[in-house]
Amino acid sequence: MVNVIDVMHNLMTINNDNTSINVDVVVAGVGIAGAFTLNALPKKFDVIGIDKKKELGYPVECGEIVPTKKEMKHLFSLNDYSIFEIPRKFESNKTKVIKFILPNGREIDVEFEMHVIKRDEMIKEIAKKSGHKLILGKRFDFNGAIFVNSERFNSKIIVASDGANSRIAKKLKIRYEFSAAKQYLMRGFEGDEDVIYMYVGKVISPGAYAWIIPKGDGYANVGTGFRFKFAEKENNIHKALNYFINEYKYSSYMLKKAEIVEKIGAIVPIDLPKRTVYDNILFIGDSASMVISHVGAGIPTSMLAGDIAGDVITKHLEEKIDLSEYERRWREAMFETMKNGYFIRKLWDKIASNDDKLIKYFKLIDEKDMKLIIRGKVPIKLKLANFLIPILNMIF
Ligand SMILES: Cc1cc2nc3c(=O)[nH]c(=O)nc-3n(C[C@H](O)[C@H](O)[C@H](O)COP(=O)(O)OP(=O)(O)OC[C@H]3O[C@@H](n4cnc5c(N)ncnc54)[C@H](O)[C@@H]3O)c2cc1C
Repeated sequence: MVNVIDVMHNLMTINNDNTSINVDVVVAGVGIAGAFTLNALPKKFDVIGIDKKKELGYPVECGEIVPTKKEMKHLFSLNDYSIFEIPRKFESNKTKVIKFILPNGREIDVEFEMHVIKRDEMIKEIAKKSGHKLILGKRFDFNGAIFVNSERFNSKIIVASDGANSRIAKKLKIRYEFSAAKQYLMRGFEGDEDVIYMYVGKVISPGAYAWIIPKGDGYANVGTGFRFKFAEKENNIHKALNYFINEYKYSSYMLKKAEIVEKIGAIVPIDLPKRTVYDNILFIGDSASMVISHVGAGIPTSMLAGDIAGDVITKHLEEKIDLSEYERRWREAMFETMKNGYFIRKLWDKIASNDDKLIKYFKLIDEKDMKLIIRGKVPIKLKLANFLIPILNMIF
C-alpha cells in the first residue's frame, strides 16, 4: 500500500515566499493515466504526483477489464505492444468470451480474451515503482498552476490526469458527454468465470449496457450504465441495478446467492477527445474523454496515453521537442478506434430507446459483425444502417 506523503519541503526548491515550489512536472491525479505517466518519466526529473485518495486506486471505480495483448493488436496501431503485457500479479481472472444478451434473451457470443485486473494494486505499484514523489490524500486546485492548499507548484509541465470530473478541464471550459455508472462488487456469483456478460435493454441500462464481470473465486463486478435521456421517468440507476441483480431473468439467476461487498458510483466519458495540449498542459485519460466509447473502455487508452505523454515530456525537457507531438502520437495510435467506437455509440443512441425495435435491429447483426464491433471496427452494414435509420424506424 502506498501511504507515502513526502515531505516536499525537504525535497524540492522552495522560493522565498515559502509558498511556491519549483518542479519539472506535476502529474495532477494518479489513476491509471497518471500512474503510467509517472512510470514513463525518468527519475532524474523533478516530478510530483498528487492525488486526493489516501490509498491510490481505491475505491475501484471500474469493471477492471482490459483486452489481452493479442487483442490489443486489433485495437491500436503500435510498433510495440509490451505495455499491455499485464503481469499475473495484477490479474484476478482471464476471460475468453464476451456474451451479449438482448432484451429477448438472444445471446451473441464473441471470442475475445480479457484480463480482469486488480486495478487498485496496479496503480499503486506502478506509481510507487516510478520512484517519483507522491502527495496523497490532498486535493489540488488549478488556477493556471497547480495548488495544494496555499502551496503553488511552478512546474514546466502539468499533466491533467484528474479523471472524468477534471477540475483542470472545467477551468479551461472543456466539456464532454458522460454516462452515469453504478457497480457492486459481489461475492457468490454462480455463472461461467470465462465469460464477460454484457446486457442491453431499456429498463436495466437505458442508453448504455449492464455487465457481470467475473473476478474469479465467485467474486464479480456487477454494474450498469445509465443515461437519463433514454430512461423512463420512474426509473433511476439504483432501481435499474437492483432490478438487474434481483429480478431480471437473464442475470438474476446467477446472482441469487450473491452478497454485496462494495458499492461505487461514477461517471464514464462517452465522447470523442478534443484538443489535448494547451501550452504546458497535457490532458490524459478520462480528463480528455480518451475512451472507446461504445464499450466505455478507458483503461488501455489511459495506459497508452500516459506512456506516450511521459516519453514526449522527456524529449521536450531534454531536446525541446514540441509538446504537440503528444497529440500527434496518441491520435496516430488510437484515434481511429475511438472514432469507430464513437460512430457505433452515436448509432446506438438512435435505436436504444425502444427494446422492441432494438431486437429487430439486432436481427441484422450476427456474430461476425459483433466480432468486428468489439474490436473497434464498423461493419459495412452499420455504415449503411446509419443512413437508413429514419426509414428502418418507420418499418420496425
Ligand atoms: C463503473 C465503471 C466501470 C468501468 N469499467 C471499465 C472497464 O472494465 N475497462 C475499461 O477499460 N474501462 C472501464 N471504465 C473506464 C475507466 O475506469 C476509466 O476510463 C479509467 O480508469 C480512466 O483513468 P484516469 O486515470 O484517466 O482517471 P481516474 O482513474 O479517474 O483517475 C483520476 C485520479 O485523479 C484524482 N483526482 C481527481 N481530481 C483531483 C483533485 N482535485 N485533487 C487530487 N486528486 C484528484 C482521483 O482521485 C483519481 O485517482 C469504467 C468506468 C466506470 C465508472
